[in-house]
Formats: sequence, C-alpha cells, structure tokens
Amino acid sequence: MISNKMMEFVKNSSAIRAMFEEGKRLADIYGADNVYDFSLGNPSVLPPVEVKEALLKVINEEDPNMVHGYMNNSGYEDVRSRIASFINEQFQTDFSLNNIIMTVGAAGGLNVIFKTLLNPGDEVITFAPFFGEYRNYVGNYDGNLVVVSPNTIDFQPNLEEFEERITNKTKAVIVNTPNNPTGVVYSEETIKALAAILNKKQKEYGNSIYIISDEPYRELVYDGIEVPYLTKYYSNTIIGYSWSKSLSIPGERIGYLVIPSEVDDYDNIISAANVANRILGFVNAPSLIQRAVSYCLDARVDVEGYNRNRELLYNSLLSYGYECVKPEGAFYLFVKSLEEDDKAFAKVAKEFNILIVPGSSFGCPGYCRIAYCVSHEMIKRSLPKFKELAKRYKDR
Ligand code: PLP
Repeated sequence: MISNKMMEFVKNSSAIRAMFEEGKRLADIYGADNVYDFSLGNPSVLPPVEVKEALLKVINEEDPNMVHGYMNNSGYEDVRSRIASFINEQFQTDFSLNNIIMTVGAAGGLNVIFKTLLNPGDEVITFAPFFGEYRNYVGNYDGNLVVVSPNTIDFQPNLEEFEERITNKTKAVIVNTPNNPTGVVYSEETIKALAAILNKKQKEYGNSIYIISDEPYRELVYDGIEVPYLTKYYSNTIIGYSWSKSLSIPGERIGYLVIPSEVDDYDNIISAANVANRILGFVNAPSLIQRAVSYCLDARVDVEGYNRNRELLYNSLLSYGYECVKPEGAFYLFVKSLEEDDKAFAKVAKEFNILIVPGSSFGCPGYCRIAYCVSHEMIKRSLPKFKELAKRYKDR
C-alpha cells in the first residue's frame, strides 16, 4: 500500500503528462503528421555543437577519477568557480564557488532549497499562472503553497494581492521569469516593487523571506529584452538555474543554485543545502555533464528557431480571433480559451487533433498553454486546424 501522501500526489499527477500519452494515442490512429501536439515543454531545437565538443573534451582529456567519481556534494570546485566567474562577468556580481551548488536541474535545485528552508506549515507564495510542480515540491516538505491570483491584463504579478497574502508564516516567494506558462518577462519596475514589499514585510514580521528565482528560461528571450538579475534588487534572493532549456539537455539533469553570501543565515543555508543534495538521494549533480557545461558557459541554443515559431503562431492566432499576450521569452503562448471552461475548450481542440494544456493546470482557468517548442512545419500544418477551431466557436 502506498503512503497517503503519495496517494494524493498520484491523484493530482500532471495533466500535461496525460496529454502526452494522448498525443501518442492519436498519432497511432491519425498518423503523426496529422496530430498537433503542443502539450509538452520538451526542447525542439538541437543542443549547440559546443555541448558535444565539451563532452568529448572531458572524456578524452580528463582524468577519469575527475570525470566519473564522487565529489563534494555541492559539485566540483573548479566547475563552481568557472560558473561563479561567468555570472560575475555577465551581471557584475561578486560570487565565488562558495555561493554555487550544482543541482539535478532546476527541479533538483528547488527541492534542495525547499528541504533546506521549510518547516511543516511554512508558506511559500507564488503567482498564478505558475508551473504546477511547485505545489508538489513545496508539499514534499509539508509546506503550503499560497497562490496569488493572476493579473490577466499583462500577466505581471498581482502585487496588491501579494502584499495581502504575506503572513508571519511566509518563508519564501517563487518568482519565475521568463514565465512558464505565459512567456512573460517580469519588468524591472515589477521586481523593484516586489522587493520593496518584501523588505517592508520582513521588517514588520521580523522574519527572513527569501525569493527563490526559478530561471530555466533565462536565456530564451526575444527582441533583445533584458531579464533582471534578482540578487541585485533584493538581498535575500536565491537563484535556481538550469541548462535544460538554454542548451536543450533536459534529460541530462544539470543546473545550479546561487546562494549569495548576503542572504540571511548564509552559513547555515549553504551547509544545509549541501546536505540536502546528499540526503535527498541526488548525492551530487551528474559528474560528466557538470564538467562539460562548465566548458561551454557561453553556448546557447539557437533562439531564432523558437522565435520563428513564436512569430508565426502568435500572428496567425491573432488573425483568427484568438487573444494572447505576446510572449517575450520561454517557448509558450498562453491564449484565452474560446469558452469560459478551459478544460472543455482543450477537449474541443482535441477534436481537431490539437493538444494544448488547460490553464487550470497552472492556476489560471479560462486560458490554455500552447508549447511552441515543436517543428516549424508542424506549426504550419496546424494553422488551418486552429482556424477551424475558432470558426467552430464563431458559428455557435
Ligand atoms: N521550473 C519551470 C518553470 C519549468 O518549466 C521547468 C521545466 O519545464 C522546471 C522548473 C524544471 O526544469 P529542469 O528540467 O531543469 O528540472
């Protein structure tokens, strides 16, 4: 018999995965070319060539003990040093290897930091729409996820409600920009206002409230938009980064946490995060890819491939009458569903072999997420179907 807690997790287990299975089923019936699966955020652009070169360099040139062995639970020291210097150069920060912990992707990093920070009943605030796994990650450590309702005008966080939702139990706030599922980048003005609220509330309650900045999409931005680096705006910020999307290597499971020396209780947090990495069973982030990414820190996927998809899909959907905020980053469009019930809308879309994820999965009913990290040709093929879908609603 499984645990009561797992029973709950399994029951609520991701609608997105279920959709993926559905895609496979439809492809068997109609043929893969006639199914338009926009359900999963699995990168479609190939990893840059530098990744392969770096992997070969590590395998061919390095001491096998340094490539495949156990290490400090926080990761190889030379790797962490290179990453700290790279961040410092990019953002004029002052980190060293002692601020970096290598993690098993962003998901691993978030679990490490929640295990480090949360007592049962502690509250973690996030802004809808949000990546649904946050609820599970916080639940893993018996914390409570508090969701601030969405601002559907521009999908910047709803700061008025945010301020009201902070209590003496608030331990952390998750910020995800560029955002999954909206693709919106939080503006500098938003970040400054958010930091001011948190500084005020920390004083009011005499507690530390940490921002956990979840940044797997940092490098996927369009039109030259800047994504503010949050440690520069709020001193109790911990960054969770991942190469899953920036190098198209989600299966390799590699990322890092930045825990700045300025955060309250730094010494305890950095030691506890090191232990958390070990006792959660990660032990350390995978060694080979850890070394490889540190030799290609400048490399990025070709964002232009995603940009072409974004432009084509966004402009076409608007011309068919859909409503959507133009995403500035990530690889998602968050469209208003053509009927109030987003789940019913996603079901109707499925009749046209279009698979999209209801916004309810992200705490934002009335919308649907379209992941455009797919082939450009599939998007082209899907457009007549999106048009027919819109027409079905116009003719109702
Ligand atoms: N956070 C967000 C917002 C995501 O969208 C994802 C993956 O899609 C993750 C975290 C997990 O990323 P990783 O593969 O690096 O664990």
